[in-house]
Amino acid sequence: MSDEDLFGEQYISESSSEGDDYGGPPMPSVFIGHGNPMFVLGPNEWTNSWSQYALTFNRPKAILAISAHWFKKSTMVTLANASRLIYDFYGFPQELYEVEYLVSGSTWLTNKLLAMLGEFDIYGAEEWGIDHGTWTVLKHMYPNADIPVVQLSINYTLDIHQHLKIGQVLKELRKQGVLILGSGNVVHNLREARFELGFNDPYAYTVDFDLKVDELLKKRDLFGLTDILNSKEGRLSAPTIEHYVPLLYTLGASNDDDEFTTICQGYDAGSLSMRAISFG
Ligand code: ZN
Repeated sequence: MSDEDLFGEQYISESSSEGDDYGGPPMPSVFIGHGNPMFVLGPNEWTNSWSQYALTFNRPKAILAISAHWFKKSTMVTLANASRLIYDFYGFPQELYEVEYLVSGSTWLTNKLLAMLGEFDIYGAEEWGIDHGTWTVLKHMYPNADIPVVQLSINYTLDIHQHLKIGQVLKELRKQGVLILGSGNVVHNLREARFELGFNDPYAYTVDFDLKVDELLKKRDLFGLTDILNSKEGRLSAPTIEHYVPLLYTLGASNDDDEFTTICQGYDAGSLSMRAISFG
């Protein structure tokens, strides 16, 4: 997306309008490293970057979120009446369980996904809603909670290339005003996390892997971004892949001629990368 596209159009969509007509420039495909859920309670350097970034393009008609925290054995999409918040974490202060983010779903987008992803045996899930991988980010990006949100699960029985393929299918939605939001962390090794380190002193493998992924993203090197998981630093940085895979959806939904933007970069707790990027 050129700067002219970003700033030249004054199109504001109506969140109530449901249909393929859009009329604005394509929405970006974004990946946010969400990090600690406590970040939702107050601004910090990462959340400020997310908020600022959301001001650089037109307001989406709807948001499709692919969160590390909906990692299941099937491909599911949230239904329009399933947009309640999921407090999917344990042992945090009570105030985190009292955060509200009352958004609507989108029948239009849910139905689009059911049609577009039929070959992946997708179905609508009653039992889910908006999990913290999504709402802790959107609360900063769109604090008014006035844009419909739909989540797509990450089906862990699919291989890496199938995740990329779903991302490629989702690309079409960007032209229809849908923001594609992958939410995870490029480096996510909770077993080695030491929160007392704060935003300083990342482990060497954290930095190595994070910078290599950044280079591969800039080149849109699909093969490299999957192959790197098998490297030594890959096994340490993504010992389980649920926080990495949303990046592949973001990448899959990108185009050769998209502008690449680094929204923020840095580290937390030694073994978390806070890198956030967009194509658009
Ligand atoms: Zn997470």
